[in-house]
Amino acid sequence: MSDSLLQIASPILPEQTRTRLNAVYARIPAVSCAGCDAPGSCCELTDAEYDDNFATMYPLYAVEYVHIVDYVRAHFDAKKQRALLDIVDERPRRCPFLTDEGGCSIHPARPLTCRTYGVLNHVSQVKATAASAHGEVPGQWVSAFLAIEQYSVCSKTKLKEGDKVDQHLQAMVSLQYERELIDMSNALNWLDVDRRAAFQQAAHKNRPTRWTWGGFNALAQKPMAWVTRAFANFWKASFLGE
Ligand code: SF4
Ligand code: SF4
Repeated sequence: MSDSLLQIASPILPEQTRTRLNAVYARIPAVSCAGCDAPGSCCELTDAEYDDNFATMYPLYAVEYVHIVDYVRAHFDAKKQRALLDIVDERPRRCPFLTDEGGCSIHPARPLTCRTYGVLNHVSQVKATAASAHGEVPGQWVSAFLAIEQYSVCSKTKLKEGDKVDQHLQAMVSLQYERELIDMSNALNWLDVDRRAAFQQAAHKNRPTRWTWGGFNALAQKPMAWVTRAFANFWKASFLGE
């Protein structure tokens, strides 16, 4: 039993899964933020967003969490690794990976939610996609797409891969990316036996599929003595763990 993912040989994510994850990411059109007058403002919460229970970098799928942990271990010094993996705040106002210059310090490993942000410039594009999908995919998928994506538009980005947009929108409204990431997350055996048992006991579910950087850290990085003593209450207080 390990006390932390830091003690496991790197990388943790199987190569086959990494390839599959990157193939999903490659389907998302790239955008340029070069002309932004407030780089990184989308990676921290305004007071109004905080009060409305928004969260940066959420949802984060388990497969993405492990992918980012591998990236952190390969690219940051020991002190920075420890600092990032010690974060257990579920909903920090500022993403822990946002640099002082407004950049993303894990850009090659950033999660789905950050990659899809700003692909569209106007809410009208989200609504048009939702309208065209009615009757084609289950209604609750369309509702989920609308609920999330209307807050993921940015009027300041410039599309770099316009040829991918139609297929991307189809994938978004039919939750294709999410379903692939859930499938990969559920196939992953990344938690040791004791931590998995603690999760099962607290959550009455087999494994965590979708949570936050801080939430996953609490389960995977805190000393086992803390997990045994305090994880159940931590989970109970969590409102972003799924
Ligand atoms: S997504 Fe929008 S707000 Fe965020 S850095 Fe890019 S242009 Fe700026
Ligand atoms: S992971 Fe990177 S892109 Fe995503 S919110 Fe954090 S700093 Fe921004």
